[in-house]
Amino acid sequence: MTALLRTEGISKAFGGVQALSECSIEVEAGTITGLIGPNGSGKTTLFNVITGYERPDEGEVYFADRKITRLAPQRVFADGIGRTFQLTRIFPRLTVMENMLIAAQHTGTASRGRRFGNPLARAGGPADRHRAMELLRFTGIDGHAHALAGTLSYGQRKLLELAYVLVADPTIVLLDEPAGGINPSLIHVISDRIAELNAAGKTFLIVEHNMEFVMGLCHHVAVLDYGTVVAAGPPQIIRDDPRVLDAYLGIAEEDDEPVG
Ligand code: ADP
Ligand code: MG
Repeated sequence: MTALLRTEGISKAFGGVQALSECSIEVEAGTITGLIGPNGSGKTTLFNVITGYERPDEGEVYFADRKITRLAPQRVFADGIGRTFQLTRIFPRLTVMENMLIAAQHTGTASRGRRFGNPLARAGGPADRHRAMELLRFTGIDGHAHALAGTLSYGQRKLLELAYVLVADPTIVLLDEPAGGINPSLIHVISDRIAELNAAGKTFLIVEHNMEFVMGLCHHVAVLDYGTVVAAGPPQIIRDDPRVLDAYLGIAEEDDEPVG
């Protein structure tokens, strides 16, 4: 079986920093795959390379057996790869619903008014609103639909981000630290929603530091250290792999710092 998403030998340097070094990962269709590793090991850079935000120095990205290396972010997104960002990208002065309608506009599902200048005027047909509300209900923040997004708690913003990325109904969703910095009750909401979506067929690639979250949710885990995959396999095996312990021993002292 070939993977839905595959990177082959990706290398990427920023000046003297080798962020990724011949990094190869595979995400099988229908799985939740975890990507773990210490701060600075290249996880976000790999997401950026996959989604077209960074160009690799070497290597290729394949999605559904098509080479997508160096496509522009909008093209990658249109092909069916959705993502969230480690630092949430939400418009705080727009309402939660307006944020969702912006997402609809970006996906090209916006149903009317496409020729007018105001992006909000271009989305917001009844079908878009209905779908947006459905997703807000699914993530449990429908009660805040008309609140300004800036008034949401950090965890609620993460739920809005999840709802936002689902508007486009991507084939695979890349989540960068979905549980980072949020309270335990919301972590459970997020992990339950991901499991439900996965049961309905959606594929996930998730970067996350919370080991309980990763080990409980993922079918397969890849471990990055210094930009290279040092271990990959089922979570039970990964947890006990000495190379993983090695990679993580280095961050034990950094644990009380905010996740970077
Ligand atoms: P992670 O997400 O695993 O914490 P990153 O992919 O963010 O790691 O970073 C990997 C390395 O690349 C780090 O040393 C980081 O400082 C560096 N890096 C990432 N993005 C840039 C950039 N745009 N410019 C310079 N250095 C970067
Ligand atoms: Mg990161």
